[in-house]
Amino acid sequence: MSKNLTEFIKKLSEVYDPDSKDRYVSLYLNKDFNTKFIDRRVRACKSILKGDELKNLSDTMKDISSVLKENTGDNIAIFASHRYDFLEYIPLSVKIGDLLIVDSSPYLRPLARIQDEWESFTLLLINSNYAKIFSVSLGEVEDTKKLSADIINKHKKGGWSQARFNRLRRGAIHAFFSEVKEALRKRSDERIILAGPGQAKLQFVDMLPKNLKDNVVEIVDIDIDDEADLLKESKRLISGREEQKSHEAVRQLKEEILKDGLAAYGVKETLTAVKNGQVELLIIEKDYRPRGWVCENCQVVEEGIHKMCPYCGKKTSEVDVIEEILEFAERTDADVEFTDDEEIANLGHVGAILRFR
Ligand SMILES: [Zn+2]
Repeated sequence: MSKNLTEFIKKLSEVYDPDSKDRYVSLYLNKDFNTKFIDRRVRACKSILKGDELKNLSDTMKDISSVLKENTGDNIAIFASHRYDFLEYIPLSVKIGDLLIVDSSPYLRPLARIQDEWESFTLLLINSNYAKIFSVSLGEVEDTKKLSADIINKHKKGGWSQARFNRLRRGAIHAFFSEVKEALRKRSDERIILAGPGQAKLQFVDMLPKNLKDNVVEIVDIDIDDEADLLKESKRLISGREEQKSHEAVRQLKEEILKDGLAAYGVKETLTAVKNGQVELLIIEKDYRPRGWVCENCQVVEEGIHKMCPYCGKKTSEVDVIEEILEFAERTDADVEFTDDEEIANLGHVGAILRFR
C-alpha cells in the first residue's frame, strides 16, 4: 500500500482552491472514533465560515458521512470538497489522531508522516526446501506467498554414491532457490529482510543478481517456524533504520550548511527553495507547528502573525507554514523526512537538501 500512499499524497498535493477559499475538508479518524468529535469540530468551523464556504462545509460533510457509513472498521483519512465534486479517501492500518481541518487544500502532514515512518519492505523466510515471502506495508502483512520443494534429505540413501547424492541434492536446492528468486523479483520493494536458520539464506543471497542483493538490508538468523517473532523483529529493524535515516539527513544538512553547499534552512529559506522546485530532501521537526500568515495579493507566505500584509496593507489569512512547505515538496517529488533530532531546532525547525542552487 505504501506505493499507493505515495501516489495518493502526490495527487492530493496538486489539489487546492483557486480562490484560496476554505473549501476542502480533511478528516482523519481512528476506527474507534467518537461522532461527538466530528460534531464539535464541524460546529466550531461553522461558527467561523460564512456564505458559500459555510454551505460547502455542510454539503461536504454529507458526502463524507456516506463514506463513513460504508467504511466501518478501519482507520481512515478522507479529503473532500462538495463544491469541486472532490472525494478521496484511504484506509490506514496504523493508528492516527482524530483531526478535522477545513482549509484551501487537503491537509497532508499526518499522511506524509505515516509514509515516512512506515516504510514498506519484503520479508523472506527461507531454508533449503521451504520459503515464505511477506509483503509488509504500513506495519501490516499485506500479502504472502509460500514456496516449497521436495528435496532429498541430508542423509544418503542406499545404493547411491555420496558424490552422486550430493550433486543431486545441490541441483535440487539450486532449482528451488531459482524459483524463489523469481518470486522475489516480482516484488518491487526496495528493502528486503532475509531470514531463516543456518546457511541456506546466505547461499541464497550469493545467488541473487546485484540489484536484488543491494536491496537486502538485514539478515536475521531465526527458526523457520518462528514467524510471529520474525515479524516483530523485522518491524523493529525497519523502524531503527528509519530513525537512523532521519539523523543522517540532519547530519548531511549540517555538512552542506558548513560548506555553503546545497542546503536551505529555516522557514523562509526553505519555503523559497521548495517553491523553486530546488528541494531534493525536506527535513521537518516532528512536532513543530509555527503560526504563519499568507497574503493572497502578494502571494507571500511567512512565519509569524500579521493581520495586515506588511507589503501591501491588505488583510492576510492564517496559514500553517510547514503544511505549505510540505505541499510544495510533495508536488515536486521531494523526499520528506520527519525528525526529532535536536539539531534541527537550532537550524530553524525545517531545512532542505537541494537539487541545485
Ligand atoms: Zn500583500
